[in-house]
Amino acid sequence: MTPSTDAEPTATQTWIVGATRITSVVESQTDHIPPEFFFPDASAEAVRRHAWLVPDYADTAGAISLRVQAFVIEVEGLTVVVDPCVGNGKKRSLPFWHDQSWPFLERLATAGCAPENVNLVIHTHLHADHVGWDTRREGDTWVPTFTRARHLYTEADLAYSKGSSTDAEDVYGDSIGPVFDAGLADIVAPDAVLGHGLSLEPSDGHTPGHVSLWVESRGERALITGDFLHHPVQFAEPDWAEIADADADAARQTRRRMMTRAAATGALVLGTHFSTRPAGRVVADADRWRFSAV
Ligand SMILES: [Zn+2]
Ligand SMILES: [Zn+2]
Repeated sequence: MTPSTDAEPTATQTWIVGATRITSVVESQTDHIPPEFFFPDASAEAVRRHAWLVPDYADTAGAISLRVQAFVIEVEGLTVVVDPCVGNGKKRSLPFWHDQSWPFLERLATAGCAPENVNLVIHTHLHADHVGWDTRREGDTWVPTFTRARHLYTEADLAYSKGSSTDAEDVYGDSIGPVFDAGLADIVAPDAVLGHGLSLEPSDGHTPGHVSLWVESRGERALITGDFLHHPVQFAEPDWAEIADADADAARQTRRRMMTRAAATGALVLGTHFSTRPAGRVVADADRWRFSAV
């Protein structure tokens, strides 16, 4: 089967963590992707060994699904957007991200979130599929979408993003610089405690300043992964590097550390690129793990 992308919006999915509400807003989901496209060490045969991946995360032939989605967090009157996807009209080298026109802001509205009411935008890292909706085109310029929000960045990932910019794809120029120009940007430590039960944990390797987000409320915990892993198959195959991992060995160590913590804490894990049922619990299984969707 060839890869296929959902044209229809997926029904809104919401999870409650103590007094916190977390909603997935989907930009796109692509199914039937050959696994070696993202994981050079993978094969369809190796994916098929993990039968629990079917049908939410893989098909019976061993092809995988991936989503691009943002999580909206509502807590104590605060509205937070985590990793706002690819965006529309951006010049990107991957054809399936280039010059798109997704109805993402409409889906955000359906989830009850108006851009001007967003207080905080958190980025696990600054790849093109995590900062896109921070800006939208107005005439010939890119302007902030979340006009009253503080947008958080780590120093290491800002440097990495600036250094990765090219004429063909300038994520810093079209999606980050305009937020700084508008005075809406804050540089934070990778272990920053943000209040309202939100805190960052460094989870570098995929990028140098990558962070994951812990949500704690009334004794319950959730973890938004970002890209320290991309697909639930990596719970069973934690050594599989993803093509964009900047430091594959550091990323492997981070995956094992974060998966161990997620299993030990019983946190609700929300996988940033997980398809169909993106939230679940991590179950330890010898020196590997499994993902049990909720
Ligand atoms: Zn990434
Ligand atoms: Zn990503």
